[in-house]
Order: sequence, then structure tokens, then C-alpha cells
Amino acid sequence: MKFLNKRFSVLWSGIVSKGFFLAGLALSASAVSAQTTSFESCVKGLRKSVVSQGIQGEVFDRAMQGVEPDPDVLKAFSFQPEFRTAIWDYLAGLVDQERVDDGRDKLKEWSKVLDVAEQKYGVDRNVIVAVWGVESNYGRIQGKRDILRSLTTLICADKRQAFFRGELLATLRILQSGDIPPELLVGSWAGAFGQTQFMPTTYQRLAVDFDGDGRRDIVGSVPDALGSTANFLKRAGWVTGQPWGVEVKLPANYSGPSGRRTKQSLEQWKSLGIAPVKVTAKNVQVTNMSNLPGTTQAALLLPAGAKGPAFLVFRNFDAIFSYNAAESYALAIAHLSDRMRGSGMFQTAWPTDDPGTSRAERRQIQQALLDRGYDIGEVDGLIGAKSRAAISAFQQSKGITVNGRAGQQVLKALR
Ligand code: CA
Repeated sequence: MKFLNKRFSVLWSGIVSKGFFLAGLALSASAVSAQTTSFESCVKGLRKSVVSQGIQGEVFDRAMQGVEPDPDVLKAFSFQPEFRTAIWDYLAGLVDQERVDDGRDKLKEWSKVLDVAEQKYGVDRNVIVAVWGVESNYGRIQGKRDILRSLTTLICADKRQAFFRGELLATLRILQSGDIPPELLVGSWAGAFGQTQFMPTTYQRLAVDFDGDGRRDIVGSVPDALGSTANFLKRAGWVTGQPWGVEVKLPANYSGPSGRRTKQSLEQWKSLGIAPVKVTAKNVQVTNMSNLPGTTQAALLLPAGAKGPAFLVFRNFDAIFSYNAAESYALAIAHLSDRMRGSGMFQTAWPTDDPGTSRAERRQIQQALLDRGYDIGEVDGLIGAKSRAAISAFQQSKGITVNGRAGQQVLKALR
């Protein structure tokens, strides 16, 4: 779920969170006490404000009992990742065979619920399941931070006050309605929670009770999570029956328009020499561009420039994009949904001599480093600060380029 233009889903924060603990905050005793006083008076002020907006005082008091600022949340807020993830690393971890296979299992397991969701909202079931798979690894990773505590910390530290105040009010409304019990209101540090990783205000607007038990429970109920995701995408402008996009081939030395916002008709793109990639037995494409009307509006997406994979994307790509405002994210969902439907990998390779690794391969890298005596923390397939430091040390010892990346070259060198 998006928070402004940054990605704060638990999967992402899981990747970067290990870095947060490196910079310890050293505060003097008097500074701590001054902070506590201002936190307490801030909470008092919040009580007054939310009670005036319809929250019962006792709901607030029960929810806020013993709440303390969470220093990790402030560190996370001001954390600027020094390590920019390349698009091929990002996609290799999010769209690996494991997540494709898991997704196919889930499609079978929840087929009846997905039948109803597709019928009611008109959204492709593969995309619904792909969002679920990327947001919370099919409900397995929903985050562990107390949302009320995180939001109160951010508000009282004066971080984007108006935004987080709205989220806090929405969270208290969830508690007051009894939709989700307080102990289950945990999530990412910025407040996204549940199997769909909705922010509380998004939950208020778009979560649905899809299993009919009277509660909108996107934490404990898979049908509620799938229905809510479908509802989100429908409200974001999903066009029933239209694909998200298709991989294309550019003419040599293409230097024409590109970018998600530059839209023109398929016919116009074709006139610039842009054609669908060739379908081979190995590279099945689930979307046939020639089935679409020439008037279909499309944008040309070049995530790694003209030398990498290219895509013509349609309205539904924008619907996915609105779930979490990042093109790499939308492409991950889109590609995962295609792969679940039987599509192959992208036909054009990423412009790198060191492609990304799957989570299984990342676990192999971590295990091999552990076996060699490097401290990587847990073997979990998430490449955090410790894993990156160990990879850098290993690269240095082997005299290969030091970049801390868990790519194919490091995997090969470790084997
Ligand atoms: Ca329900």
C-alpha cells in the first residue's frame, strides 16, 4: 500500500529494516524526559481532537493505554536507503518461481471466492492474487508493529502531521467499530496492515466484508482481503477484460516518446515500429496484442531504458500503479499475474551482466556465506544490511567488484 510515493509494504520494510538498527540514537537523560513530557501532552491533545470527531473517550483511552514512542519508527521514517535496488533485483525477488507456484496454489484454494470477486468487481483473479502475493506473501508477512503506536509516534514527532492524524483517526474508527481486534492491528511502521496492506483510511474507504460475517477483516479473513483488493482495483478504474499490457520490441535505435503518462493509440505506437515480441514455445505470451482495438490507449514503459525490456501498458497498469505508486511495483504485480497464467519470463534480457536472484537463490547465498563464517543474521532470503556487508566482504576477498549485491555473479562465486 502506498504512502505518498514511497513503498512501505512490509516486504519492502523487511528488506530495509535491518539497516535501521545500525544507527543507535544516543539521547541524554534530560532529553528523554523532555521528550516523554511532550509525548504525553501530545497524546492528551490527540484525545481531545479525536473525541471531537466522534471517537468515544474510553475507546481512545483503552487503545492508548501505556503507549510510548517507538524510536525505530522515527529511524525508519528518516531512513534514506543508500542502496538503490536495481529493477532486475527487485523483480527477481518478487516474481520468482516460488511466488508463482504459491499463487497457483492459492488460485485453486480460493477459486470459489475468486469466482464471486471476478463477477462482482470485474477484476482479473490473477491480478488480485498477485497483489496479495506481493503485499504480504499471501498473508504470511503482514508486519508486526503496533499501528497506533507507530502513528502516534510520527504525529507527536511532528512528521507529516495532517497525513498521519487522518490515519490515526481511521485506526480508532476501526477499533470502535470492532471490525478488527486491537491485538491484530499490527503492520508496517507507516501504518499499512493486513493481507492487503491497506493504510487505515484506505481500509475505511475500500475494505469489504466478503465472507459475510459482518466484519471487514483484512487481517484474518482471506475472502475479505481478496474482495477488498478487487474493490480497490475496480475503484481505481479497472477495465474488465483488458490486459494490463504486453511486452514489445522496439525498432533499432528507438528514440521516440516513452513514459507511463505519454499515451497514444496502439495504432500510433505500431506506426513507430513498435511490435509485440515474438511468441515462442519457451516464451509464451498470455496477451495477444492483435486482439486489441487499434484505438486502445497505451503508454510505452522502458523500466531500464531502451536496451532493456519494453512494454506497452494500458489503463489497468495505472489501476495497479495506484495501489502503490511505483512503476516497478506495478510491473511486478503485472508480471506475476501473467506468470501465474502460464506466461514465460520477459523475452528481452535486462541490460546487466549480473542478473538478479530468486528468494531461493538468495537463501543459498546466505547459507554459503554463513558456512564460510560470515555473519548474515538469519537465512531468510531477505538481503538486509548484514547480508550486504557479508557479500561485500566476500567480494573483496575474491577480488571481484564490491557492491554488496546478491546477484548471479556472487551466487556463482560462492558455489
Ligand atoms: Ca468478514
